Amino acid sequence: MASATDSRYGQKESSDQNFDYMFKILIIGNSSVGKTSFLFRYADDSFTPAFVSTVGIDFKVKTIYRNDKRIKLQIWDTAGQERYRTITTAYYRGAMGFILMYDITNEESFNAVQDWSTQIKTYSWDNAQVLLVANKCDMEDERVVSSERGRQLADHLGFEFFEASAKDNINVKQTFERLVDVICEKMSESLDTADPAVTGAKQGPQLTDQQAPPHQDCAC
Ligand code: GDP
Ligand code: MG
Repeated sequence: MASATDSRYGQKESSDQNFDYMFKILIIGNSSVGKTSFLFRYADDSFTPAFVSTVGIDFKVKTIYRNDKRIKLQIWDTAGQERYRTITTAYYRGAMGFILMYDITNEESFNAVQDWSTQIKTYSWDNAQVLLVANKCDMEDERVVSSERGRQLADHLGFEFFEASAKDNINVKQTFERLVDVICEKMSESLDTADPAVTGAKQGPQLTDQQAPPHQDCAC
């Protein structure tokens, strides 16, 4: 597994220890829905129209400010294993939030959302938060999945829903910021009810070497 120092993506920022919270976020969904493009758009504000090859699981790091807190996001991208549905369970370990993505021009990617959701529920922490993202909303002419169907599925699965475009930079930042906010809301809610999943009992996220433990007193 990549470490913070050998990450191809996050070398400079990952050595920065100056943050209040660290959240591990995963982007998952079928191959070619735009996961890598979405991550690059958010972390680097760039878009490469050619197919972005994803070699090896890796992550980018971005630090943002929410409610006076410095939150370091460690955002993981799959390595193309999604093609074979062989994402290792270790990948899910410690994840606090997911961006589950499909492509509005690709019915199959939409049909796979349920399966990805099941994977998340099987392998991740119970309190992990998920946002459903319908990417490539700039391609209206080639749309095959209506916004309504996306929204209905999101409602059914209990996820919030965003239509977005990595290409035209629509709702990319908003998606990540909303995910951070729902993670924070969930954390403080769980602390209010003294949910053992957050207060450190065994169901809590298994933190990897690169991660600082989430602080217990999130008030953001
Ligand atoms: P991944 O396999 O899910 O990581 O998908 P990629 O990021 O590699 O993108 C697959 C293809 O879709 C590439 O050709 C991208 O340029 C293209 N793509 C990604 N996001 C968008 C988008 O928002 N709009 C359009 N039109 N194309 C996109
Ligand atoms: Mg990729």
